[in-house]
Amino acid sequence: MWNINQAYINGAFVPVQGRERLEIVNPATEQVIGTVTLADREDARRAIAAANRAQPALAASSKAQRIEMLKELQAAVLARTDRIRDVTIEEYGGPLSRSQWVSNYASQCFATTAEALRAYAFERLMGEATVVMEPVGVAALITPWNAAAGSICSKLASAIAAGCASVIKPSELGPLQAQVVTEALHEAGLPAGAFNVLLGRGGDVGDEFTTSAGVAKISFTGSTHTGSLIARAGVETMKRVSLALSGKSATVLLDDANMATAVPMALQAAFMNNGQACVAGTRLLVPHAHMAEAIERLQAAVAGMRVGDPRDATTAIGPLASEAQFERVQQFIRRGLDEGATLVAGGEGRPDGLGKGWFVRPTVFTGVRNDMDIAREEIFGPVLSVIGYGSDDEAIAIANDSAYGLQAYVFSSQAQRAWRVASRLRAGTVLVNRITPELSAPFGGVKTSGIGREFGVFGMEAFLEPKTVAAANGFASKG
Ligand code: NAD
Repeated sequence: MWNINQAYINGAFVPVQGRERLEIVNPATEQVIGTVTLADREDARRAIAAANRAQPALAASSKAQRIEMLKELQAAVLARTDRIRDVTIEEYGGPLSRSQWVSNYASQCFATTAEALRAYAFERLMGEATVVMEPVGVAALITPWNAAAGSICSKLASAIAAGCASVIKPSELGPLQAQVVTEALHEAGLPAGAFNVLLGRGGDVGDEFTTSAGVAKISFTGSTHTGSLIARAGVETMKRVSLALSGKSATVLLDDANMATAVPMALQAAFMNNGQACVAGTRLLVPHAHMAEAIERLQAAVAGMRVGDPRDATTAIGPLASEAQFERVQQFIRRGLDEGATLVAGGEGRPDGLGKGWFVRPTVFTGVRNDMDIAREEIFGPVLSVIGYGSDDEAIAIANDSAYGLQAYVFSSQAQRAWRVASRLRAGTVLVNRITPELSAPFGGVKTSGIGREFGVFGMEAFLEPKTVAAANGFASKG
């Protein structure tokens, strides 16, 4: 049994002062596997104070020193990749291959950021001025439960590269992943207070971070609803705010796409991470003329997907992360039926043979109109809405008719045509004939999918601010 009752503050694991306890449940078995005691506002204030003490030295550190810190962090996380993978399976229900990818990514993002940092010019001449990119100050990194290890590490990498100390609040719903990642990060031996980690509620620890004058920057990943609360709270102290938020991504299958390869990939894009992915391509746009073939291929692909024990390498879809997620997805499936969509795979309830665990049936609706709730709202489970279209223009209009704009997918056999469509899609990222991201390129959303970008040089710049120094003749250079 796990018993997590410490926060990581000022370079050490210390008992939390908070009293609220939560059970940790394995979503595949519904068994309680431990408890976590949450931090409170007082813990948050201690963490903010520690980060502020560490900030001046971190801001003054050289590029070479930051690269060294990133290397140490990468090595420390890499050494614990298997442990991170195992708790991602145990606590979250991530299938083996996905959990492996996430834990690899958690170390890799430090290397990608170090590369961006190496090539980065912190000073530029503009007219008669020298413009210096300076760290914004102490940053609060607030992360969701569906991508715990990756979110913590990629935000921390950008903050360190920019010279910002941080206070990190992983989701209270992913305590094991946060604990194991923090133990790994501790091994990197960074200066005390350079990063601090506490598990607590958004309403107290999160709120303390977003309202404190001791925090200059918030980098948040989570739902659009919470993001707007945070942006509003943060503006009182003029915090710099980056928000990576919800999505309802469209996959545009053009009529020249190779259906045999594109349809299974589109289904993977929809159901990745058990469907609990901000970038999941949950609206599949299919030309009317190819609809019958697409449905047949979707049904075959779903039938070939194994739902079950996430530890098993042949499992494609594990359980949802919690009972609340299970109920949410059931409600959306019922809503899809009530709205008149047609079920061609899956439906309500658990898959046959799985009586326990938060497993849902991978579900595909056809005959979906883009104004139905199942096409507009982020469901966050393996539920795909298939929408028919006539022309490329219509497909683009449907894809763009969404409050969100995080990631889009295009499948085509002609490069020029795919690029033309990609250029007209309103999304932060467009993937063409692939579903794997490019991790050195910027990632983020347009519209209500967020503000700002993460990863690589753009991720680092989100923690920097330009300062202009213009001097009179004879003082133009530092001497
Ligand atoms: P959430 O918004 O409920 O919570 C995210 C984090 O914010 C948690 O740590 C939570 O404790 C904290 N929080 C909640 N209220 C707060 C407040 N008032 N002040 C400060 N912090 C507060 O999101 P979730 O359910 O954990 O995650 C799922 C959502 O995240 C989905 O909508 C998904 O699309 C989105 N997401 C987006 C990305 C992206 O990169 N765009 C990546 C992963 C997940």
